[in-house]
Amino acid sequence: MRKPIAAGNWKMFKTAKEASKMISELKELVKGVSDREVVICPPFTALESAVNAAKGSNVKIGAQNLYWEEKGAFTGEIAPGMIKDLGCEYVIIGHSERRQYFGETDATVNKRTFSALKAGLKPIICVGETLQERESEKTFSVIETQIKGGLKGLSEEQMKDCVIAYEPVWAIGTGKTASKEQAQEVHAFIRKLLSDLFGKDTADAARILYGGSVKPDNVKDLMSQPDIDGGLVGGASLEAEPFSKIVKY
Ligand code: PEP
Repeated sequence: MRKPIAAGNWKMFKTAKEASKMISELKELVKGVSDREVVICPPFTALESAVNAAKGSNVKIGAQNLYWEEKGAFTGEIAPGMIKDLGCEYVIIGHSERRQYFGETDATVNKRTFSALKAGLKPIICVGETLQERESEKTFSVIETQIKGGLKGLSEEQMKDCVIAYEPVWAIGTGKTASKEQAQEVHAFIRKLLSDLFGKDTADAARILYGGSVKPDNVKDLMSQPDIDGGLVGGASLEAEPFSKIVKY
């Protein structure tokens, strides 16, 4: 059985103090939840206070990005080991905002994935098509390219520590959620690709999250689908109450 994950992506929101406050509230609301994982990904500057606030609870902390080198003259970048050292468990890689605004490609997603795994972090690797790509019926070829490029060269063993997030770009922050059928269709396609690349057992064990305007009132519907194993949640993860409802869908 795949353990579902509710992961919050805070993007560029919240100071260290605000992160600590929200996580202190959240951990009370999700106390005792053990049949799913709860992950919050704050900005780098709030990671330490988030880890401290989450101590002793079932809330895990992740970063939103990392650089692939271990150390060196890379002004402004953050190394995987630095994130691990803070007590983080997960890291989001290849979010569509990073692809759109910061030049992330499948090749850089691949480098970041390897370096995250090497440091002992679990990557949440994001893929998804734009509206234009969906309308021109390129969804499956775009996803295939992103999956094959992002996961290139990974062993079955390494794939076991990876999580995939399918996030249709047109559904992120727009209030437009993919229908459960639209999401399931792509999730099933991703699982089939994983099976071709890593074998059926690894594919069956892989968690594939849906992201794109997940809210407390649509999470149950999405989670009813056989290949949807949780959510990567932006806007609705910023406050403890709505996010706890998503966790406990
Ligand atoms: C995201 O940031 O990954 C996301 C899915 O955002 P939202 O839930 O706000 O659409």
